[in-house]
Amino acid sequence: AEAELLERRAHFFATVQEHYFEEPPRIERGWRHHLVDTRGRVYLDMLNNVTVLGHGHPALSDAVHRQWRRLNTNSRFHYASVVELSERLARSLPDGLDTVFLVNSGSEAVDLALRLAWATTGRRDVVAVEEAYHGWTYASDAVSTSIADNPGALASRPPWVHTVAAPNSYRGRHRGAEARRYGPEAAERIAELAARGTPPAAFLCEPFYGNAGGMPLPDGYLEQVYAATRAVGGLCLADEVQVGYGRLGTHFWGFEQQGVVPDVVTVAKAMGNGHPLGAVITRREIAEAYRSQGYFFSSAGGSPVSSVVGLAVLDALRDEELQANARDVGGHLKNRLHELAHRHGLIGAVHGSGLYLGVEFVRDRTTLEPATEETAAICERLRELGVIMQPTSDRQCVLKIKPPLCLTRDGADGFVAALDDVLTHGW
Ligand code: PMP
Repeated sequence: AEAELLERRAHFFATVQEHYFEEPPRIERGWRHHLVDTRGRVYLDMLNNVTVLGHGHPALSDAVHRQWRRLNTNSRFHYASVVELSERLARSLPDGLDTVFLVNSGSEAVDLALRLAWATTGRRDVVAVEEAYHGWTYASDAVSTSIADNPGALASRPPWVHTVAAPNSYRGRHRGAEARRYGPEAAERIAELAARGTPPAAFLCEPFYGNAGGMPLPDGYLEQVYAATRAVGGLCLADEVQVGYGRLGTHFWGFEQQGVVPDVVTVAKAMGNGHPLGAVITRREIAEAYRSQGYFFSSAGGSPVSSVVGLAVLDALRDEELQANARDVGGHLKNRLHELAHRHGLIGAVHGSGLYLGVEFVRDRTTLEPATEETAAICERLRELGVIMQPTSDRQCVLKIKPPLCLTRDGADGFVAALDDVLTHGW
Protein backbone atom coordinates (compact mmCIF):
# COMPACT_ATOMS: atom_id res chain seq x y z
CA ALA A 1 0.00 0.00 0.00
CA GLU A 2 2.88 2.40 0.82
CA ALA A 3 4.51 1.82 -2.55
CA GLU A 4 1.20 2.26 -4.31
CA LEU A 5 0.52 5.60 -2.58
CA LEU A 6 3.99 6.84 -3.54
CA GLU A 7 3.29 5.85 -7.13
CA ARG A 8 0.01 7.73 -7.09
CA ARG A 9 1.77 10.73 -5.61
CA ALA A 10 4.38 10.60 -8.35
CA HIS A 11 1.60 10.40 -10.89
CA PHE A 12 -0.17 13.54 -9.72
CA PHE A 13 2.83 15.58 -8.60
CA ALA A 14 5.65 16.99 -10.69
CA THR A 15 9.20 15.96 -9.86
CA VAL A 16 9.87 19.49 -8.60
CA GLN A 17 7.70 18.47 -5.63
CA GLU A 18 9.95 15.55 -4.75
CA HIS A 19 10.58 14.37 -1.22
CA TYR A 20 13.96 14.50 0.41
CA PHE A 21 13.89 10.88 1.42
CA GLU A 22 14.11 8.00 -0.99
CA GLU A 23 11.42 6.23 0.99
CA PRO A 24 9.60 8.96 2.88
CA PRO A 25 7.80 7.74 5.97
CA ARG A 26 4.10 8.49 5.87
CA ILE A 27 3.58 10.60 8.95
CA GLU A 28 0.20 10.19 10.54
CA ARG A 29 0.37 12.06 13.81
CA GLY A 30 2.72 13.77 16.18
CA TRP A 31 3.12 15.01 19.71
CA ARG A 32 5.63 17.56 20.93
CA HIS A 33 8.90 16.87 19.04
CA HIS A 34 7.86 13.38 17.97
CA LEU A 35 6.28 12.11 14.77
CA VAL A 36 4.62 8.75 14.21
CA ASP A 37 4.28 7.04 10.84
CA THR A 38 1.54 4.71 9.64
CA ARG A 39 3.55 1.70 10.81
CA GLY A 40 3.66 3.08 14.35
CA ARG A 41 7.32 4.03 14.11
CA VAL A 42 8.25 7.03 16.28
CA TYR A 43 10.67 9.66 14.98
CA LEU A 44 12.43 12.62 16.52
CA ASP A 45 11.50 15.68 14.48
CA MET A 46 14.74 17.67 14.22
CA LEU A 47 13.70 19.40 11.03
CA ASN A 48 10.44 21.14 11.65
CA ASN A 49 10.95 24.88 11.60
CA VAL A 50 7.24 25.56 11.39
CA THR A 51 5.71 23.68 14.31
CA VAL A 52 7.50 25.67 17.02
CA LEU A 53 5.16 24.61 19.85
CA GLY A 54 5.46 20.98 18.88
CA HIS A 55 2.93 18.71 17.29
CA GLY A 56 -0.61 18.15 18.53
CA HIS A 57 -0.61 21.14 20.87
CA PRO A 58 -3.95 21.00 22.75
CA ALA A 59 -4.35 24.76 23.33
CA LEU A 60 -3.95 25.37 19.64
CA SER A 61 -6.35 22.68 18.46
CA ASP A 62 -8.93 23.79 21.07
CA ALA A 63 -8.69 27.41 19.91
CA VAL A 64 -9.05 26.43 16.26
CA HIS A 65 -11.94 24.11 16.97
CA ARG A 66 -13.84 26.71 19.02
CA GLN A 67 -13.32 29.43 16.42
CA TRP A 68 -14.24 27.26 13.45
CA ARG A 69 -17.50 26.30 15.15
CA ARG A 70 -18.31 29.91 15.82
CA LEU A 71 -17.10 31.66 12.67
CA ASN A 72 -14.49 31.77 9.98
CA THR A 73 -14.76 34.30 7.25
CA ASN A 74 -13.14 36.43 4.68
CA SER A 75 -10.74 38.83 6.39
CA ARG A 76 -12.68 41.84 5.09
CA PHE A 77 -14.92 41.79 8.16
CA HIS A 78 -14.26 43.50 11.48
CA TYR A 79 -13.49 41.27 14.46
CA ALA A 80 -11.42 41.57 17.62
CA SER A 81 -8.90 38.73 17.26
CA VAL A 82 -7.15 40.24 14.24
CA VAL A 83 -6.71 43.52 16.11
CA GLU A 84 -5.41 41.70 19.19
CA LEU A 85 -2.93 39.70 17.12
CA SER A 86 -1.64 42.81 15.37
CA GLU A 87 -1.28 44.57 18.70
CA ARG A 88 0.67 41.67 20.19
CA LEU A 89 3.02 41.58 17.19
CA ALA A 90 3.61 45.32 17.34
CA ARG A 91 4.27 45.15 21.09
CA SER A 92 6.95 42.52 20.52
CA LEU A 93 8.77 44.89 18.14
CA PRO A 94 10.64 48.17 18.70
CA ASP A 95 8.57 51.35 18.87
CA GLY A 96 7.38 52.60 15.53
CA LEU A 97 7.02 49.17 13.96
CA ASP A 98 3.30 49.04 14.54
CA THR A 99 1.48 48.84 11.23
CA VAL A 100 0.60 45.26 10.42
CA PHE A 101 -0.45 43.38 7.27
CA LEU A 102 -1.60 39.80 7.72
CA VAL A 103 -0.97 37.26 4.97
CA ASN A 104 -0.78 33.47 4.58
CA SER A 105 2.88 32.69 4.00
CA GLY A 106 6.44 33.85 4.11
CA SER A 107 6.61 34.27 0.34
CA GLU A 108 3.64 36.62 0.39
CA ALA A 109 5.14 38.56 3.28
CA VAL A 110 8.45 39.07 1.44
CA ASP A 111 6.59 39.99 -1.75
CA LEU A 112 4.65 42.66 0.12
CA ALA A 113 7.77 43.93 1.92
CA LEU A 114 9.41 44.53 -1.46
CA ARG A 115 6.34 46.30 -2.77
CA LEU A 116 6.29 48.56 0.27
CA ALA A 117 9.90 49.49 -0.42
CA TRP A 118 9.23 50.12 -4.11
CA ALA A 119 6.21 52.30 -3.36
CA THR A 120 7.88 54.27 -0.57
CA THR A 121 11.08 55.04 -2.45
CA GLY A 122 9.78 55.16 -5.99
CA ARG A 123 12.73 52.96 -6.95
CA ARG A 124 13.07 49.44 -8.26
CA ASP A 125 16.54 48.14 -7.41
CA VAL A 126 16.98 45.79 -4.47
CA VAL A 127 20.09 44.43 -2.80
CA ALA A 128 19.91 40.86 -1.52
CA VAL A 129 22.46 38.47 -0.14
CA GLU A 130 23.90 35.54 -2.09
CA GLU A 131 22.80 32.04 -1.10
CA ALA A 132 19.56 33.19 0.46
CA TYR A 133 16.00 31.91 0.21
CA HIS A 134 13.01 34.22 0.60
CA GLY A 135 10.13 32.47 -1.15
CA TRP A 136 8.68 31.41 -4.45
CA THR A 137 6.20 34.13 -5.48
CA TYR A 138 7.42 36.43 -8.24
CA ALA A 139 9.21 39.07 -6.19
CA SER A 140 10.36 36.82 -3.35
CA ASP A 141 11.70 34.33 -5.89
CA ALA A 142 13.63 37.07 -7.66
CA VAL A 143 15.58 37.84 -4.47
CA SER A 144 16.08 34.15 -3.63
CA THR A 145 19.65 33.60 -4.69
CA SER A 146 20.18 30.11 -3.33
CA ILE A 147 20.87 27.62 -6.07
CA ALA A 148 20.06 24.68 -3.80
CA ASP A 149 16.45 25.77 -3.49
CA ASN A 150 16.21 27.05 -7.04
CA PRO A 151 18.77 25.83 -9.57
CA GLY A 152 17.55 28.37 -12.12
CA ALA A 153 17.97 31.30 -9.71
CA LEU A 154 20.90 32.90 -11.45
CA ALA A 155 19.54 32.58 -14.97
CA SER A 156 16.17 33.98 -14.01
CA ARG A 157 17.42 36.83 -11.84
CA PRO A 158 15.86 40.09 -12.97
CA PRO A 159 18.10 43.12 -13.55
CA TRP A 160 16.76 44.97 -10.50
CA VAL A 161 18.23 42.38 -8.15
CA HIS A 162 21.78 43.08 -7.00
CA THR A 163 23.63 40.91 -4.55
CA VAL A 164 26.33 41.11 -1.96
CA ALA A 165 28.46 38.17 -0.83
CA ALA A 166 26.99 35.54 1.45
CA PRO A 167 28.30 36.59 4.89
CA ASN A 168 29.61 33.10 5.57
CA SER A 169 32.35 33.20 8.19
CA TYR A 170 33.17 29.51 7.81
CA ARG A 171 33.69 28.98 4.11
CA GLY A 172 32.99 32.29 2.37
CA ARG A 173 35.44 34.74 0.88
CA HIS A 174 36.27 36.04 4.36
CA ARG A 175 36.71 33.56 7.16
CA GLY A 176 36.94 33.73 10.93
CA ALA A 177 37.91 37.20 12.13
CA GLU A 178 38.14 38.38 8.51
CA ALA A 179 34.36 38.02 8.26
CA ARG A 180 34.14 41.57 9.64
CA ARG A 181 34.95 42.69 6.09
CA TYR A 182 31.58 41.55 4.68
CA GLY A 183 29.73 44.50 6.21
CA PRO A 184 31.93 47.30 4.81
CA GLU A 185 32.05 45.55 1.42
CA ALA A 186 28.27 45.32 1.23
CA ALA A 187 28.03 48.98 2.32
CA GLU A 188 30.43 49.93 -0.44
CA ARG A 189 28.37 48.05 -3.01
CA ILE A 190 25.24 49.93 -1.94
CA ALA A 191 27.02 53.29 -2.21
CA GLU A 192 28.34 52.27 -5.61
CA LEU A 193 24.84 51.46 -6.87
CA ALA A 194 23.67 54.87 -5.72
CA ALA A 195 26.63 56.55 -7.43
CA ARG A 196 25.72 54.74 -10.65
CA GLY A 197 22.23 56.21 -10.53
CA THR A 198 20.45 53.12 -9.27
CA PRO A 199 20.16 53.63 -5.51
CA PRO A 200 18.41 50.61 -3.99
CA ALA A 201 14.84 50.75 -2.77
CA ALA A 202 15.81 48.18 -0.17
CA PHE A 203 18.38 45.92 1.36
CA LEU A 204 16.91 42.54 2.29
CA CYS A 205 18.38 39.70 4.28
CA GLU A 206 17.74 37.25 7.08
CA PRO A 207 19.21 38.70 10.27
CA PHE A 208 20.88 35.33 10.87
CA TYR A 209 22.33 33.47 7.95
CA GLY A 210 19.84 30.64 7.54
CA ASN A 211 20.66 28.93 4.31
CA ALA A 212 24.19 28.14 5.43
CA GLY A 213 22.67 26.12 8.24
CA GLY A 214 22.35 28.80 10.85
CA MET A 215 25.21 31.20 11.28
CA PRO A 216 25.14 34.48 13.15
CA LEU A 217 26.00 37.40 10.90
CA PRO A 218 29.42 38.93 11.55
CA ASP A 219 29.39 41.46 14.42
CA GLY A 220 28.26 44.85 13.20
CA TYR A 221 27.16 43.54 9.80
CA LEU A 222 23.60 44.83 9.86
CA GLU A 223 24.59 48.08 11.53
CA GLN A 224 27.00 48.83 8.67
CA VAL A 225 24.73 47.69 5.87
CA TYR A 226 21.61 49.35 7.28
CA ALA A 227 23.52 52.63 7.68
CA ALA A 228 24.70 52.45 4.07
CA THR A 229 21.18 51.65 2.85
CA ARG A 230 19.64 54.52 4.79
CA ALA A 231 22.36 56.90 3.65
CA VAL A 232 21.12 56.47 0.09
CA GLY A 233 17.42 56.58 1.04
CA GLY A 234 16.66 52.85 0.93
CA LEU A 235 14.68 50.74 3.38
CA CYS A 236 16.04 47.91 5.52
CA LEU A 237 14.01 44.70 5.30
CA ALA A 238 14.49 41.90 7.83
CA ASP A 239 13.20 38.47 6.81
CA GLU A 240 12.35 36.85 10.14
CA VAL A 241 10.34 34.01 8.58
CA GLN A 242 12.77 31.35 9.76
CA VAL A 243 14.70 32.93 12.58
CA GLY A 244 12.13 35.02 14.44
CA TYR A 245 9.80 33.95 17.26
CA GLY A 246 12.45 32.91 19.77
CA ARG A 247 14.19 30.16 17.82
CA LEU A 248 17.60 31.78 18.31
CA GLY A 249 17.17 31.54 22.09
CA THR A 250 18.88 34.83 22.85
CA HIS A 251 16.13 37.09 21.51
CA PHE A 252 12.61 36.91 20.14
CA TRP A 253 13.64 38.53 16.84
CA GLY A 254 16.83 37.78 14.92
CA PHE A 255 17.67 41.43 14.22
CA GLU A 256 17.93 42.02 17.97
CA GLN A 257 21.13 39.92 17.93
CA GLN A 258 22.65 42.58 15.72
CA GLY A 259 21.34 45.53 17.73
CA VAL A 260 19.54 47.14 14.79
CA VAL A 261 15.96 48.12 14.00
CA PRO A 262 14.67 47.33 10.49
CA ASP A 263 12.05 49.34 8.61
CA VAL A 264 10.06 46.30 7.52
CA VAL A 265 9.84 42.88 9.19
CA THR A 266 8.45 39.73 7.58
CA VAL A 267 7.24 36.79 9.64
CA ALA A 268 5.46 33.49 8.91
CA LYS A 269 6.23 29.80 9.64
CA ALA A 270 6.29 29.81 13.48
CA MET A 271 3.59 32.45 13.60
CA GLY A 272 0.89 29.87 12.77
CA ASN A 273 2.68 26.75 14.05
CA GLY A 274 1.93 25.15 10.68
CA HIS A 275 -1.34 26.96 9.99
CA PRO A 276 -0.87 29.32 7.02
CA LEU A 277 -0.24 32.69 8.62
CA GLY A 278 2.29 35.41 7.99
CA ALA A 279 2.70 39.13 8.54
CA VAL A 280 4.52 42.22 7.46
CA ILE A 281 5.10 44.82 10.14
CA THR A 282 6.34 48.26 9.26
CA ARG A 283 6.09 51.93 10.17
CA ARG A 284 2.92 53.85 9.45
CA GLU A 285 4.46 56.21 6.87
CA ILE A 286 5.76 53.29 4.82
CA ALA A 287 2.38 51.56 4.84
CA GLU A 288 0.70 54.82 3.90
CA ALA A 289 3.12 55.48 1.05
CA TYR A 290 2.06 52.12 -0.35
CA ARG A 291 -1.61 53.18 -0.13
CA SER A 292 -1.12 55.73 -2.87
CA GLN A 293 0.16 53.15 -5.36
CA GLY A 294 -0.68 49.69 -4.26
CA TYR A 295 -3.46 47.51 -3.13
CA PHE A 296 -3.74 45.03 -0.35
CA PHE A 297 -6.28 42.38 0.29
CA SER A 298 -5.78 38.81 1.42
CA SER A 299 -8.97 36.73 1.62
CA ALA A 300 -7.73 34.43 4.34
CA GLY A 301 -4.75 36.39 5.71
CA GLY A 302 -5.56 37.04 9.37
CA SER A 303 -8.99 35.41 9.11
CA PRO A 304 -10.77 34.76 12.42
CA VAL A 305 -9.37 31.23 12.59
CA SER A 306 -5.87 32.36 11.59
CA SER A 307 -5.96 35.13 14.15
CA VAL A 308 -6.89 32.88 17.06
CA VAL A 309 -4.14 30.51 15.94
CA GLY A 310 -1.68 33.42 15.95
CA LEU A 311 -2.77 34.44 19.44
CA ALA A 312 -2.67 30.87 20.81
CA VAL A 313 0.87 30.45 19.45
CA LEU A 314 2.06 33.64 21.15
CA ASP A 315 0.36 32.61 24.41
CA ALA A 316 1.95 29.17 24.37
CA LEU A 317 5.40 30.52 23.46
CA ARG A 318 5.16 32.85 26.47
CA ASP A 319 3.52 30.47 28.96
CA GLU A 320 5.81 27.56 28.13
CA GLU A 321 8.89 29.81 28.00
CA LEU A 322 9.94 28.26 24.73
CA GLN A 323 12.53 30.89 23.86
CA ALA A 324 14.32 30.14 27.14
CA ASN A 325 13.99 26.44 26.36
CA ALA A 326 15.53 27.03 22.92
CA ARG A 327 18.44 28.76 24.62
CA ASP A 328 18.88 26.07 27.25
CA VAL A 329 18.36 22.92 25.15
CA GLY A 330 20.05 24.52 22.12
CA GLY A 331 23.11 25.40 24.22
CA HIS A 332 23.25 21.87 25.57
CA LEU A 333 22.85 20.37 22.10
CA LYS A 334 25.55 22.61 20.65
CA ASN A 335 27.99 21.55 23.38
CA ARG A 336 27.23 17.90 22.70
CA LEU A 337 27.72 18.40 18.95
CA HIS A 338 31.08 20.08 19.62
CA GLU A 339 32.07 16.95 21.58
CA LEU A 340 31.14 14.84 18.55
CA ALA A 341 33.25 17.10 16.35
CA HIS A 342 36.32 16.18 18.43
CA ARG A 343 35.77 12.52 17.60
CA HIS A 344 34.53 12.65 14.03
CA GLY A 345 36.68 14.34 11.40
CA LEU A 346 33.74 14.64 9.01
CA ILE A 347 32.29 17.42 11.17
CA GLY A 348 33.94 20.59 9.95
CA ALA A 349 31.96 22.96 12.13
CA VAL A 350 28.94 23.33 14.37
CA HIS A 351 27.06 26.54 13.66
CA GLY A 352 24.15 28.32 15.20
CA SER A 353 22.24 29.78 18.09
CA GLY A 354 19.42 28.41 20.24
CA LEU A 355 17.49 25.74 18.35
CA TYR A 356 18.76 26.87 14.98
CA LEU A 357 21.93 24.84 14.61
CA GLY A 358 23.91 23.41 11.73
CA VAL A 359 26.44 20.61 11.53
CA GLU A 360 28.65 21.10 8.49
CA PHE A 361 30.29 18.02 7.01
CA VAL A 362 33.56 18.33 5.09
CA ARG A 363 35.87 15.77 3.52
CA ASP A 364 38.88 17.78 4.57
CA ARG A 365 39.08 20.34 7.36
CA THR A 366 41.70 22.35 5.48
CA THR A 367 40.20 22.52 1.99
CA LEU A 368 36.62 22.40 3.40
CA GLU A 369 35.61 20.18 0.49
CA PRO A 370 31.87 19.71 1.09
CA ALA A 371 30.77 16.19 2.02
CA THR A 372 27.57 16.44 -0.02
CA GLU A 373 26.92 12.77 -0.83
CA GLU A 374 27.85 11.79 2.71
CA THR A 375 25.34 14.28 4.13
CA ALA A 376 22.51 12.86 2.03
CA ALA A 377 23.43 9.32 3.08
CA ILE A 378 23.69 10.35 6.74
CA CYS A 379 20.18 11.81 6.58
CA GLU A 380 18.84 8.57 5.10
CA ARG A 381 20.57 6.56 7.81
CA LEU A 382 19.34 8.89 10.55
CA ARG A 383 15.82 8.35 9.29
CA GLU A 384 16.32 4.60 9.63
CA LEU A 385 17.42 5.25 13.21
CA GLY A 386 14.31 7.33 13.85
CA VAL A 387 15.48 10.91 13.31
CA ILE A 388 13.96 13.21 10.70
CA MET A 389 16.59 15.55 9.34
CA GLN A 390 17.57 17.08 6.04
CA PRO A 391 20.59 18.72 4.41
CA THR A 392 20.83 22.41 3.63
CA SER A 393 23.17 25.07 2.15
CA ASP A 394 24.04 25.54 -1.49
CA ARG A 395 26.46 22.65 -1.07
CA GLN A 396 23.88 20.47 0.73
CA CYS A 397 26.50 19.48 3.27
CA VAL A 398 24.95 20.90 6.44
CA LEU A 399 22.47 19.19 8.75
CA LYS A 400 19.93 21.89 9.42
CA ILE A 401 18.73 21.48 12.98
CA LYS A 402 15.43 23.27 13.58
CA PRO A 403 13.29 21.15 15.89
CA PRO A 404 10.14 22.35 17.63
CA LEU A 405 11.17 24.73 20.42
CA CYS A 406 9.77 22.33 23.02
CA LEU A 407 12.65 19.90 22.39
CA THR A 408 13.94 18.41 25.65
CA ARG A 409 17.52 17.66 26.67
CA ASP A 410 16.62 13.96 26.40
CA GLY A 411 15.43 14.53 22.84
CA ALA A 412 18.64 16.39 22.02
CA ASP A 413 20.70 13.57 23.54
CA GLY A 414 18.76 11.02 21.48
CA PHE A 415 19.65 12.89 18.33
CA VAL A 416 23.34 13.13 19.33
CA ALA A 417 23.43 9.41 20.09
CA ALA A 418 21.94 8.59 16.67
CA LEU A 419 24.38 10.89 14.88
CA ASP A 420 27.29 9.44 16.85
CA ASP A 421 26.13 5.97 15.85
CA VAL A 422 25.98 6.89 12.16
CA LEU A 423 29.36 8.62 12.18
CA THR A 424 30.94 5.70 14.09
CA HIS A 425 29.44 2.76 12.22
CA GLY A 426 28.99 4.27 8.80
CA TRP A 427 26.11 5.39 6.67
N1 PMP B 1 11.78 33.57 3.89
C1 PMP B 1 12.55 32.65 4.49
C2 PMP B 1 13.79 33.09 5.21
C3 PMP B 1 12.21 31.30 4.43
O1 PMP B 1 12.97 30.39 5.01
C4 PMP B 1 11.04 30.92 3.75
C5 PMP B 1 10.59 29.47 3.66
N2 PMP B 1 11.57 28.52 3.75
C6 PMP B 1 10.26 31.91 3.13
C7 PMP B 1 10.66 33.23 3.24
C8 PMP B 1 9.01 31.57 2.38
O2 PMP B 1 8.03 31.17 3.26
P1 PMP B 1 6.78 30.27 2.75
O3 PMP B 1 7.30 28.92 2.43
O4 PMP B 1 5.85 30.31 3.92
O5 PMP B 1 6.19 30.96 1.58
